[in-house]
Amino acid sequence: MTAALNWPGAVGPIAIAGLEPVFVDVELGTASLDPDLAIEAINPATGAVLITHLFGGNIRCPRLRQKGRANGSALLDDVCQSIGALQRIDNGRLLDSDALMLSGNGAKHLGAGELGFVVTDHSGLIDHVDRVSLTSSSRNGERVFSPDTLGFNYRPNVFSASLARSRLAGMDEQLSARRRNAAFLWPKLRECSGLVPLFDTTDGSHSFLNFPLRLDLEALDMPHGPAARDVIVEALRAEGVPVWVWLTKPVFDYLPAFRGKWSAAEFPNTVTLLDTMFYVSEIAPPNGLGLMQAYADAFRKVWAAMPELRADIRQRAAE
Ligand SMILES: *Cc1c(COP(=O)(O)O)cnc(C)c1O
Repeated sequence: MTAALNWPGAVGPIAIAGLEPVFVDVELGTASLDPDLAIEAINPATGAVLITHLFGGNIRCPRLRQKGRANGSALLDDVCQSIGALQRIDNGRLLDSDALMLSGNGAKHLGAGELGFVVTDHSGLIDHVDRVSLTSSSRNGERVFSPDTLGFNYRPNVFSASLARSRLAGMDEQLSARRRNAAFLWPKLRECSGLVPLFDTTDGSHSFLNFPLRLDLEALDMPHGPAARDVIVEALRAEGVPVWVWLTKPVFDYLPAFRGKWSAAEFPNTVTLLDTMFYVSEIAPPNGLGLMQAYADAFRKVWAAMPELRADIRQRAAE
């Protein structure tokens, strides 16, 4: 079981593992699994619940975790975009999870190249990772050979691993700079009516891989669909703000194994986010409050032009 708003790389392995996905809609306030829908959909056939933490948001979802445990389902957390979710974010405790997956690639907090991590207490899972990936490795000072490996070379190369290790030392500092930037930015953007953050920005434990926002089309009096977002993103870019549209389709439409078996209409919140969300990138250090102020000024300028943009948007929506 996993969310329809998701990263294809998080979901493709479900088919590789010979499992059938069950997609659930997301909550608008977290961009992750709607706990009520997920709890309702869990049943004895649910082998695993895959919780994806997008954009640096922490997804604690305690009721869903409890229900998963009671049901005997494995709890898996894709924290590739939320390195802070590996810390004690749940009232001083670690998330109740069987395995957390972290990416070290250049688009993520570690920015160390092609490597990833599995964090788990299950020794069987670590043995499995060895079996599918390594031919030999160095462990506890000894050379270990895995003669029956399947040889998928998932092992991070030594260069990436040493970069990751050195960058880990500054991770707390990086996270606090990202949080400081986000905490400065949002109160300034809040006056742009119809602009909504994707998760609670006052919660100081988020990792802010970027700063995700969405448009409330009703508050803006804009037509349904992606036209308003697309026009506003173009205008912000013209003002020099590094804003990006994430994916535009539910995750199953990106994956040949699942395409055609599910329809976007079953996931209204997912569609709302895909049509209305965008994010501000480059909120990591060394960028600081001066640049955040420039972003905020550009947002204000674009919002001041909303009457003119509205005409463009209506026309584009009608095409
Ligand atoms: C980046 C990412 C992945 C994949 O990580 P790689 O290191 O690129 O394989 C998986 N899930 C999510 C949510 C991601 O953002």
